[in-house]
Amino acid sequence: MASKKILLFKAKDNIFAEVLTRKIYTIGRSHHDDIFLANRGVSRCHASIYFTDDGPWIIDGSFKGRNSTNGLLVNGQKVHQHQLHQYDIITFCRDVYAIFLEGEGDAASNQALEEVLHKIAAFISLKKTSKAHIVDSAIEKPDPKIKPQKLQFDDLTGLPNRSAFLARVRKSLEFKKKISEDHQFSILFIDVDRFKMVNDSLGHLAGDQFLIQLSKRFTACLRSGDMVARLGGDEFGILIDDIDDINESIGVAQRLQKDIAKPLQLDHQEIYPSISIGIASTYLQYQTVEDILRDADTAMYNAKKAGKARFVLFDENMHRKASDLLKLDGDLRRAVENQQLQLYYQPIVSLKEKSLVGFEALIRWNHPERGLLSPDVFIPISEETNLIYKIGIWTINEACRQLALWKKNAVIQPNLYVNVNISSKQLSDTHLIKNIKEVLQKYSIAPGELKLEITESIAMEDSQHTIKVSKQLGQVGVPLVIDDFGTGYSSLSYLNRFPIDTLKIDRSFVSDIDITNENTSLNITHSIISLAHSLGVKVVAEGIENAYHLAYLKQAKCDFGQGFLFSKPVEAEAATHLAEAGLKWRWKF
Ligand code: C2E
Ligand code: CA
Ligand code: CA
Repeated sequence: MASKKILLFKAKDNIFAEVLTRKIYTIGRSHHDDIFLANRGVSRCHASIYFTDDGPWIIDGSFKGRNSTNGLLVNGQKVHQHQLHQYDIITFCRDVYAIFLEGEGDAASNQALEEVLHKIAAFISLKKTSKAHIVDSAIEKPDPKIKPQKLQFDDLTGLPNRSAFLARVRKSLEFKKKISEDHQFSILFIDVDRFKMVNDSLGHLAGDQFLIQLSKRFTACLRSGDMVARLGGDEFGILIDDIDDINESIGVAQRLQKDIAKPLQLDHQEIYPSISIGIASTYLQYQTVEDILRDADTAMYNAKKAGKARFVLFDENMHRKASDLLKLDGDLRRAVENQQLQLYYQPIVSLKEKSLVGFEALIRWNHPERGLLSPDVFIPISEETNLIYKIGIWTINEACRQLALWKKNAVIQPNLYVNVNISSKQLSDTHLIKNIKEVLQKYSIAPGELKLEITESIAMEDSQHTIKVSKQLGQVGVPLVIDDFGTGYSSLSYLNRFPIDTLKIDRSFVSDIDITNENTSLNITHSIISLAHSLGVKVVAEGIENAYHLAYLKQAKCDFGQGFLFSKPVEAEAATHLAEAGLKWRWKF
């Protein structure tokens, strides 16, 4: 049954009830107002009430932005905008009050409720404005159908929690969308800098105290009508409602930063807190609260990246970047289905035999509008959105399908292998081994014909896990290749703990090789090759672009090479021609 919303007014000696049935009301001392209160101290349009999907709200003054002369109080607090809850007491001026009541259909109209109304009205005239008091003593047995709505608070700081915050911001956005387009507000997304350090060094109790003290500082900085909430952990949200100008929110951010930075006594230690703030405001057109919060969060992240203790305003530029990324992600999802992904193949050649021994599969995206896209543009996004799992398994399957075709081609030498790159997420995918096994069986790929490349930094991220996976891969006959070697931070001695097949020396070392043959990169290249050989690991040099590179690597006894000197990555058909030339294919070296 729909609930009935009632405003019970006491204006001087009159008590009357107004059942709210319309979407909008104005209340004031003008004959144009919907609810007429002819009393001194009441302004022309003193307050307005409007309904959103979540219920009624009251604002001070008119929708046109004019405020009342004496202000509007709800439960004794001056408010600009307020969501109405059961038993809220609205004060217009001395002796003119209203109380908001909500009841289930019948209950609202029955005798019992009338009595309750009168009791409350009598209570108001005794000027007891404490809401709790009225609920407790005036209504001994509250009608179970009339439940006061509870705001949700955070236990630690006593601030409203995330859901209360979202609900409030949602109201403000609804108000903007449905009632006043000019209404603007900002959200400040706040993250406490180095909170973990406080927690780790002084303990959780001190960490809690720290958050409580900061909460107090936040609250002290705000105007009434604004809202600060704890969103979780060391994250806070602030709503700066009804602004005339974006500079107002910037002003609040600056004030917050200044006030927060004052030293704080904690556990006999002086702490200098700082916060990073991201601001998003409705000057950019938003449809949902989640979008505003997401952008404020992005801006906060940029503030952190820029060196903490600062604020960043989410602007058109970031907006475009974010929506471009979003679009790219959507496109990429379709790309997988619509077969827009394609593998290119770059030959790997034996520097000793001067022959082609395998290919590295490198992914490309044939984007319908943007043309051929390089993996650097879309692989990082796909990792963020987990699409990499799907792309990864597609890549392995496609590379093996192509290899099976080459194996059937009598002109092509046997033992040709294909290297496939895998990302960090794939390495920790529990289905990786099972998926690979299935593909190997499907295309009858022999051990050693498919190799997986992971970068050195990914391999070292969780070296124990890498060792485990590389052993499992070994069991199914898939050797591991460490890519971009030399750019990570692993010590060379670490290498013997990994059951690896091949190392690829990063392109940056190779590109340093020049005619003088004198620089540190050469020493590094030399030692990587000798150490790898002493451990029985083969070496591929990447990015061989000219004769100097090649000559140096040959005399340093590098086993294999890859680079534009031999061939750029090419489509499968062109790669087939290269493979068919195979052993007969001689470079001039
Ligand atoms: P990578 O694994 O280090 O691949 C080598 C990159 O160097 C390739 O860029 C290749 O085109 C380029 N390259 C090869 N020879 C030369 C040369 O002589 N000079 C220069 N300047 N560049 C050369 P690409 O194809 O744009 O790939 C970039 C990166 O994207 C790869 O770096 C790899 O980390 C990643 N990637 C490529 N395909 C895949 C894939 O299927 N899955 C995953 N997870 N990552 C991939
Ligand atoms: Ca690679
Ligand atoms: Ca590489």
